[in-house]
Amino acid sequence: MGHTKLHIPGPVEVSEKTFRAFSTTMIGHRGQGFKDLYAKIQPKLQQLLSTKQLVFISTSSAWGVMEGAIRNLVSKKVLNCMCGAFSDKWLDVSKRCGKEAEPLQVAWGSSIRAAEVDKRLATGLFDALTLIHNETSTGVMSPLAEIAALKKKYPDVMFIVDSVSSMSAVPLNFDELGIDVLLAGTQKAFALPPGTGVFVCSPAALAKAATMKDRGYYFDFVEFQKNAEQNMTPSTPSIGHVFALESKLNEFFAEGLEARYARHRRTNQMTRDWAAKHGFNLFPEKGFESITLTCISNGARPGGRVVDVPKLQSRVKERGFLIDGGYGKIKGTTFRISNMGDETEATMGELFGVMDEAMGGL
Ligand SMILES: *Cc1c(COP(=O)(O)O)cnc(C)c1O
Repeated sequence: MGHTKLHIPGPVEVSEKTFRAFSTTMIGHRGQGFKDLYAKIQPKLQQLLSTKQLVFISTSSAWGVMEGAIRNLVSKKVLNCMCGAFSDKWLDVSKRCGKEAEPLQVAWGSSIRAAEVDKRLATGLFDALTLIHNETSTGVMSPLAEIAALKKKYPDVMFIVDSVSSMSAVPLNFDELGIDVLLAGTQKAFALPPGTGVFVCSPAALAKAATMKDRGYYFDFVEFQKNAEQNMTPSTPSIGHVFALESKLNEFFAEGLEARYARHRRTNQMTRDWAAKHGFNLFPEKGFESITLTCISNGARPGGRVVDVPKLQSRVKERGFLIDGGYGKIKGTTFRISNMGDETEATMGELFGVMDEAMGGL
């Protein structure tokens, strides 16, 4: 069976090299070998996120940590900033955890803006907020630094930020941002297999978690901290992921973080250029387009080209590539192409060669 190369916005293509690291011979998670492995990658994770805090590894998809953050940190009420499928879902998840929760909803395709967040936090009703930095369903990147700057004004509010599809592709300086939780899953920009999350908590978040009843066990942030101090995880982790993460972090630093960020900007620009060349508009509000994936309007925005997206997808798939046909309520009226992970100008060029061909007569 021929492999269909993934250009959907997660999971993304995983390299042979990463798979080789993933399938390293098994070791025990309480043994010195594992502790040495975690100790070796900890400073790299800290450097990646510009933090002095310990970075945690969770064997779960991103949602595990997203739900965990709610259970660990919301006692009064959470403000869920919503601008697409993933951020909207966080409101539902907050409620399912039995928390008081309120939406700050903007139209899909728009970004969350600091002024709106400020207005809502000024009510004094909230002790936490959730924000998705890069809303993968709409291809919108919200201005994280501007929003995070509000933390100074509202020090008692826990700022919980999902960077699932941006972490490692754009600079994220956790300590400087001053936020409380920053999390990601490994199957997006890290280009690791799905099944593991990476996250970091502020000292204030850890202190608050320690006071919270019913925060559970599997995602207890205090347990993560205690174990990370010993270079361990609370329960048996997906050890293959930890080996793969070590290999991947080595690649990040061999390339250089700045070069990695610049590469993502360039490959993203290529995607935007491809869309423009074929007469498509982009879905996101101007100036807030993601740089890790592109959400192309296919009738969702006025003007611009409209094609039969399932047909485009199937033609592209026959040629060996998988692109996404739009998510949730904008399925079909948008489609998405990912440039996350290991993609280069050369590999994106191959995709666009195939896509040019597939567009013929559509
Ligand atoms: C993919 C994604 C998620 C969900 O991640 P899972 O690993 O499937 O739990 C959450 N937030 C964003 C922004 C995503 O892109």
